[in-house]
Amino acid sequence: MIPTEMIERIEAGSVYYTESGCLEWIQGCTPAGYGLMWLGDRKQDYVHRVMLKAHGRDLDGLTVDHLCERKACSNPKHLDVVTREENTRRMRDKNWQAHLVTIRPSLGLYERLADRAAC
Ligand SMILES: [Zn+2]
Repeated sequence: MIPTEMIERIEAGSVYYTESGCLEWIQGCTPAGYGLMWLGDRKQDYVHRVMLKAHGRDLDGLTVDHLCERKACSNPKHLDVVTREENTRRMRDKNWQAHLVTIRPSLGLYERLADRAAC
């Protein structure tokens, strides 16, 4: 599937929250809350990773940090591609949480949104 068709498919299967800009996948997710989609009969992948790949990002060996803290969100502006080590460091770093508060306005996020049970 070509990238634009994949992006359209993700958008069609998601809810867009105008107040936050979050694009939340509602077609199925992992027990941890990450959006999961089928890519053919037997292959599944995380929706946020599919979205970033469709935008030309190389994710080989890397992980994705949801800056909006909504795990089913696939808005590329809310996703930061980082190493696994950096992602773990951020989760443990209280200063990172304070930093997130300062950068949220640039993401269109003015307050932390509670995770919603989308699927
Ligand atoms: Zn988001």
